Amino acid sequence: MERYDYVVIGGGSGGLASARRARSYGARVALFEPEPLGGTCVNRGCVPKKILWSGAELAERLPDLEDYGLCADAQRLDVNYAKLRAASRAYVARLNDIYAKRAADEGVELIRDVAHFAAAGRIASRGGRELEAPHVLIATGAEPSIPAVPGAELGISSDGWFLRDELPKRLLVLGAGYIGVELSGIARALGCEVVLAFRADAPLVRFDQLLRETLSAEMRQTGVELVSGFHPAHLSRNDAGRITAASEDGRVLEGFDCVLWATGRHANVRSVGLEAAGVALDAQGFIGTDAYQNTNVQGIYAVGDVAGRAELTPVAIAAGRRLADRLFGGEPDAHLDYENIPTVVFSHPPIGTVGMSEAVARARYGEQVKTYVSRFTNLYHGVTRRKPRTAMKLVTLLPDERLLGIHSIGLGSDELIQGFAVALRMGARKADLDRTVAIHPTAAEEMVTMR
Ligand SMILES: Cc1cc2nc3c(=O)[nH]c(=O)nc-3n(C[C@H](O)[C@H](O)[C@H](O)COP(=O)(O)OP(=O)(O)OC[C@H]3O[C@@H](n4cnc5c(N)ncnc54)[C@H](O)[C@@H]3O)c2cc1C
Repeated sequence: MERYDYVVIGGGSGGLASARRARSYGARVALFEPEPLGGTCVNRGCVPKKILWSGAELAERLPDLEDYGLCADAQRLDVNYAKLRAASRAYVARLNDIYAKRAADEGVELIRDVAHFAAAGRIASRGGRELEAPHVLIATGAEPSIPAVPGAELGISSDGWFLRDELPKRLLVLGAGYIGVELSGIARALGCEVVLAFRADAPLVRFDQLLRETLSAEMRQTGVELVSGFHPAHLSRNDAGRITAASEDGRVLEGFDCVLWATGRHANVRSVGLEAAGVALDAQGFIGTDAYQNTNVQGIYAVGDVAGRAELTPVAIAAGRRLADRLFGGEPDAHLDYENIPTVVFSHPPIGTVGMSEAVARARYGEQVKTYVSRFTNLYHGVTRRKPRTAMKLVTLLPDERLLGIHSIGLGSDELIQGFAVALRMGARKADLDRTVAIHPTAAEEMVTMR
């Protein structure tokens, strides 16, 4: 039996960050990961998605070149998707290597194998290694959930999307959380026919209504067909090889060469053998953790998507690092505050948001909520035929108008929200924004000039 101070299962965002931070304090650390390092974000999430999104943004701007007098014939979009994917894969491979080298240089022992609990504090690998440690972190992430409807296997998940090197001609995306919205927008901008079908009345259920309405209008404007209230009942393939989706209420969407399930994600714990250690799942099927990432078993912790709270890369990284600070860095109270986490949806146009939606704020504070809204067309589009709208909202709490939520959709929203998230976290009031001199001409200046 090999003895370590810290055993980490999963070399994605959370596990890798926690292992390296623990090692920086001198802990003896083993990290299990059978796949290329970096997990979902690097291999089949944020990174390849952002590269595709950037390509899609360029494609979408093609007509603007002519409007700016830069190109006389910028009408025809010629997409070499295989080339874009190859470039993305090469970049991801570089990241995989950099992560592996960094971890090795710092002295994290990387074990390229699947790990499972033999008992609490005892970890075995498929290859037969057995390790013992007083502290064990589960950071095995999440995987796509696909409803158990007849024909479900005719569709792919986001994992499958990132394995393909060709674009579909006609794509059906089922589910309009951020993954469904993002991949729909990318596919549309790269020239696919796209239908986005979802159960609710509009995409992005938990987001502020202004963002949802504006996004719906802008997606329609780019040619994405939105189908609301669609509860998938089954998929089938016709003689011509085309896929049809039927809903529970009998509606039919047909003629697709690709169907993408974007219907949520669940904890990836199949291989971990939680029962051998007695680790419990919560009602949603994620590993239950307290504010300090402790599971119900002493000495076993969980961070990141497997714990099911704010499933984002920087959240997994921050929670993993804080945990290592607490266990090995002499910071007994270190833990992540899950309030007011900013996030971006790489939709077309992008969304940046932090804090409460107006609906959540009103449910909690009622009449004490005051909002400010601005809608405008970005100056960039002053000379283009395309006129995507920008919309922003501040949600504040009376009497002193403390900022509760900041929401933006439109060109630049992805980059502007980080700084405003700092202000919100520091407890800024509307008056603090008013006192800040605007930067002109930008979209962000609207945030400090709303009346
Ligand atoms: C399409 C898509 C787009 C996304 N875009 C964004 C974005 O733009 N911004 C953002 O912040 N987040 C984004 N996310 C979410 C982000 O990828 C996750 O929140 C993040 O990867 C979670 O990190 P993690 O460490 O919890 O798990 P993961 O990164 O999933 O890592 C888990 C690792 O554990 C390994 N593992 C599993 N079981 C075992 C075992 N038994 N033994 C050893 N290893 C094991 C897996 O191989 C995997 O590498 C996106 C996700 C998806 C799917």
